[in-house]
Amino acid sequence: MACKKCSKYPVRRNMCNKCFVEWFEKSSRKEIRESGFKKNEKVHLIDTEDINYSVLRHIFEQVIKLPLTFTEDGKKIFPSSMDSEARDLLERFFKERKANTKSIHLLKNFEQDDIEYYAELKRINGRKKTYSDDTSILIKALDKNFKNIKTSLSKAQQSLKDL
Ligand SMILES: [Zn+2]
Repeated sequence: MACKKCSKYPVRRNMCNKCFVEWFEKSSRKEIRESGFKKNEKVHLIDTEDINYSVLRHIFEQVIKLPLTFTEDGKKIFPSSMDSEARDLLERFFKERKANTKSIHLLKNFEQDDIEYYAELKRINGRKKTYSDDTSILIKALDKNFKNIKTSLSKAQQSLKDL
């Protein structure tokens, strides 16, 4: 089997490293475009002090090169992965935790493993995220039998945002 985009040997998601990077950047670009940022718009990229923040910062500065003004009173952008979105949705219902609905989540369509793999390929440093809480362990267990459960939960989290 070869990479689904070229004929090289696949290493991640049926893609070679080069195509994986292209896919990751193209998807991020699409997500950012759909969020409708304007040139020089004020944004506040929340520093979660981990690899997700570093990756999103890299995407903004090196990949899309959209001139934005980074300031504390701007539109809030939160670098949460699909894993966080799925966990947050379940916790809203089972632990009655408040949802983080006031911010834009630009990495929500990526699994945490893919974000970290991208970081590794691009040599982006940052603290890796671990999901060792009860809810994440439950999701991991379900994920073995229901392949798209994380995607489904993350999508539900988005559509229930205003609930
Ligand atoms: Zn390829």
